[in-house]
Amino acid sequence: MEKEEIKKEIATLKNELLSSRKNTFTSLESDELDAAYDYAKGYMSFLDAGKTERECVAQARKMLEKEGFKPYTFGMKVSAGEKYYYDNRAKSFVAFVVGSESLENGVYFAASHIDSPRIDLKQHPLYENENIGYFKTHYYGGIKKYQWTTIPLALHGTVTKKDGECVDIVIGEDMSDPVFYISDLLPHLAREQMKKTLGDGITGEQLNLIAGTRPYGDSDEKDAVKLNIIKLLNEKYGIVEDDFLSAEISAVPAFNSRDVGLDRSLIASYGHDDRVCAYPSLTAIAEMDSPKHTVMAILSDKEEIGSAGNTGMQSRIYFDIIEALAKNMNVSDAVVRANSKCLSSDVNAAFDPNFPEPMEKNNCCYINNGVVITKYTGSGGKSGSNDASAEFCGYIRKVLDEAGVIWQTGELGKVDAGGGGTVAKYIASNNVDVIDLGVPVISMHAPYEVVSKTDVYMTHKAIKAFFEA
Ligand code: MN
Ligand code: MN
Repeated sequence: MEKEEIKKEIATLKNELLSSRKNTFTSLESDELDAAYDYAKGYMSFLDAGKTERECVAQARKMLEKEGFKPYTFGMKVSAGEKYYYDNRAKSFVAFVVGSESLENGVYFAASHIDSPRIDLKQHPLYENENIGYFKTHYYGGIKKYQWTTIPLALHGTVTKKDGECVDIVIGEDMSDPVFYISDLLPHLAREQMKKTLGDGITGEQLNLIAGTRPYGDSDEKDAVKLNIIKLLNEKYGIVEDDFLSAEISAVPAFNSRDVGLDRSLIASYGHDDRVCAYPSLTAIAEMDSPKHTVMAILSDKEEIGSAGNTGMQSRIYFDIIEALAKNMNVSDAVVRANSKCLSSDVNAAFDPNFPEPMEKNNCCYINNGVVITKYTGSGGKSGSNDASAEFCGYIRKVLDEAGVIWQTGELGKVDAGGGGTVAKYIASNNVDVIDLGVPVISMHAPYEVVSKTDVYMTHKAIKAFFEA
């Protein structure tokens, strides 16, 4: 063969036989890229108004009520094309649209989580030390503690008072509000601290929020600063110190989402994990008018602490609903589950050129390479992972390709570099086909995480294509 011909043949064979990474900016048409930037605006407002699972549920309700979704109650008779939501204790949420096909063909659902790492107040939080009033905290989820010092923090939560009345608290989001603050040591005097590991430099019991310094009546009585703080809370919310016992109050970053980079291709925000998958699930199900299959979006709680509790993915509620629907339509719930398919929609760690060490470059995911499919998570030999089947991986791949979705595969770091899990295994144990699919994130679990606008949009398109398949 001529040299020129061989060159040509290699090019053809490479194209046919070898896989290559796709970048959203070089692969998508400009109208799609515009759509991605536009879609990000809605997502960013969702982030700014939803910094706790409760606030996300409230937003989900509002979004879907506008689209004609109605509250579902157990025992309800439902029919094709009808749209429902189930609000589970204001902390987790299920939305579904009844399909035209028999429920026995399975429910197609996307499950994401709306809780994010944060700093929770303890049940006896308030104390005074050297005339500074503090809230003691217990962090929630996997955090690098030092990252939560010296940043503005806002308090979000719900308090149930002695008489049973509940009040919602938000302090620190309005620009005229005060914020809360965790201190760190000045570098000049940090010689000993700087010798410690990153994990030990700031301890859990040091994550104390400064809540005030002015004593009540400007008096020098003992604990007058503490008294003044509770007095101010009492004036605004009518609460007393004992009410902290029946409260869920969290400190979250007081800053809002922003575009990152001169080209505005990225979004920085608190709580991308996993609102960046919850929001696309909502926008995708909002666009379902008369799906073939029954489609469902689950927004679960407590993923960051093991999906436990009655609002976590291990709660029976999600499959209770599927069971109730099956019963109502006189079909076998076991058959429904056996034929169901699920996207466990959660984030994965994007390759970060600043921190290449824990990644294996052939198998990790990349910013702007589209939605990421993760076959397995876990740690130490895939332990604790769902590990999706070849058949189901093949199925999803075909659905995404046919819908023109830019996608990539990913794994959570090098073998034995660490690891983590998602809600996938808790769904799979109900005999459902599940695969992880979501958005690559830079600085996951930091107070300010980063994602790509085009990846978020591809996730919306992927979930929608899955619902429509
Ligand atoms: Mn997550
Ligand atoms: Mn997480």
